Amino acid sequence: MLITQELTLRRIHRWLCAALIFLTFSTWATYCLGNEEFSRSEPESPHSPDQQNKGNSSHSENYMVTAANPYAAMAGREVLRRGGNAVDAAITTQLVLNLVEPQSSGIGGGGFLLFYDRQNNELYAYDGRETAPAAADQNMFLDEQGFPVPFFQAAVGGLAVGVPGLLRMLELVYEDHGHLPWKDLFQPAIKMADEGFLVSPRLNHLITRDQHLKTFPATQRYFHGTSNQPHPIGFRLRNPELSSTLRSIANNGVSEFYHGPIAKKIVNTVRESFPNPGRLSLSDLAMYQAIRRIPLCAPYRTWRVCGMPPPTSGGVTTLQILGLLEPFDITKLPPNSLEAVHLFAEASKLAFADRAHYLADPDFVDIPVTELIDQRYLRNRAATINHKQSMGPAKPGFVGSQNKGAASSTLKREGESTSHITIVDQKGNVLTMTTSIENAFGSRLMVSGFLLNNQLTDFAFLPNIDGRTVANRVEPRKRPRSSMAPTMVFDKFNRPIIALGSPGGSTIIAYVAKTIVAVLDWKLGIQEAINLPHYANLNGPLILEQGTAITALEPGLNKLGHTVILRPLNSGIHAILIDDNGLIGGADPRREGIALGD
Ligand code: GLU
Repeated sequence: MLITQELTLRRIHRWLCAALIFLTFSTWATYCLGNEEFSRSEPESPHSPDQQNKGNSSHSENYMVTAANPYAAMAGREVLRRGGNAVDAAITTQLVLNLVEPQSSGIGGGGFLLFYDRQNNELYAYDGRETAPAAADQNMFLDEQGFPVPFFQAAVGGLAVGVPGLLRMLELVYEDHGHLPWKDLFQPAIKMADEGFLVSPRLNHLITRDQHLKTFPATQRYFHGTSNQPHPIGFRLRNPELSSTLRSIANNGVSEFYHGPIAKKIVNTVRESFPNPGRLSLSDLAMYQAIRRIPLCAPYRTWRVCGMPPPTSGGVTTLQILGLLEPFDITKLPPNSLEAVHLFAEASKLAFADRAHYLADPDFVDIPVTELIDQRYLRNRAATINHKQSMGPAKPGFVGSQNKGAASSTLKREGESTSHITIVDQKGNVLTMTTSIENAFGSRLMVSGFLLNNQLTDFAFLPNIDGRTVANRVEPRKRPRSSMAPTMVFDKFNRPIIALGSPGGSTIIAYVAKTIVAVLDWKLGIQEAINLPHYANLNGPLILEQGTAITALEPGLNKLGHTVILRPLNSGIHAILIDDNGLIGGADPRREGIALGD
């Protein structure tokens, strides 16, 4: 059925292209032409953005991939068609994303992954977060007067590059659960890097908008070419350097990256970066380890919700928001109602106050995780929520911890980067993974065909506030606190029913929590849930998604005492709902993703 839909869409697409070409020689027409050319080589052709399942869900019976770019989702589905499992498909999907969505994620960055093994009925969590170099210190993002440097001053160049963790994490999960030969999983990305892919509208837009790519000649060349203009939509972009990098990792394993010639190139690029040389060393790379962690689960009404434990705040804070909402009969409130948004905002503020105070790398800071998601604790906190009045800024709760960390610094800017993949395979295994190079195009440093992250900017720049140390301050070999929140929901028979996650910096947590509430409490379909207008409160102003119906609530929310701001809230939620009739995949219409299955 999906194939018929795809063919029909393709026909419509051709017709639209013809009309567009007739009407204009715009860049859109160029993209259409590019796709038309590419689409002759089915099944490798991607959907163009106007072919995507924008706002519509996909249904499949056997298996499904949902990811931020059609090329990547198609490559992942192909692996599943060949009998690969969810881990195999995730590796291929991610490597293709590295090529076609280079601004968001890749082997120069890190991520977090949850894998549900159906046969053993076990959930596993993997941490591939970047680490700070051994030479990092808590003052590295302060100026001479001791003030935090502006974000882009820290982000661009070598200083904020953490040791990339993605490949070690993929290697670890592959060793534990992979099925097809490692080498085979790299072939689609290698082939596509050699043959080229068509630059999407989103990639073109981000290249055009970015002020920092030109800082580094190699990066400028790759994204602008010899004409020194951003590659237009539909331009066929090849990446022979990435192809050769991936080939050597496919053949010789991940050690190529952490010990071999690639490691040397990474270290040289980071240390010689001008401006902003970094402190990464060969031994930092050689010592990097991905970590198997214990998934963090808590009940939500009749369900069990599981996420990643720290160093990401994604799991704890999502579970806290849900726990804080539980005492309220949210099912009775319409999704976009004033009261629903008010309650959600108040619960979020309480959760984000705890996040800022307690959460950081658990190998460096003593975090009272169990107490923070304890139902009694959350019920007491929820009792401070007033239906008629905003509480203003929330304070962290007291859970008797030894951690006396002061609240860490301010709201972090949300990015246009990061990517989320969700996969269910034929055997019923489920995988949900968020990966990132932090800011769009990361540090802007490109080496061996991929971009290096700027993930160390996720540390608090100020190590002390009012004489008290901040939990998330920079320390050597520490992992910066993340917001990434790959999440799964289980029913009372312990069957996975939703797997999801999103990019979006700290607002990831709001997107994930609201989508869960929308499906479980408001009984919306997964795609309808993703399409809902967003709102988020990170314990500051209440942010409403610009250009959506939710902005009509502004006057009412002001009356309740909220300070409201309107902003684009650029989520990229990729989710799969699993029920008795099969799999329903959702892809966020705010980005270029698609859900594909058979
Ligand atoms: N660096 C962020 C994190 O780890 C992700 C950035 C984004 O989603 O844009 O939480």
